[in-house]
Amino acid sequence: MTATSTDRARCVVPFCRRTTKRFKAEWICGNHWPLIPKAQRRVWGRLRKRWRRYGPEAGVHFDARWWRIWDRLKREAIERAAGIS
Ligand SMILES: [Zn+2]
Repeated sequence: MTATSTDRARCVVPFCRRTTKRFKAEWICGNHWPLIPKAQRRVWGRLRKRWRRYGPEAGVHFDARWWRIWDRLKREAIERAAGIS
């Protein structure tokens, strides 16, 4: 566990040094986001739109779904970032 004193989120891809001020949680930077397959990015986009519209009313299992999908995006970004020569 690495506790950082900064409030900047770091890109989830190892060795990527990009950070953002916008979120305090995890983040995938603009270099690595495009590596994720379009279909998955679309699913994420839908999820975010739904969250913006409904907020906490988005659904009982919304949180679990959010993190499950986020996990998948993260894995995809990390794997592809490592696999690119
Ligand atoms: Zn990155």
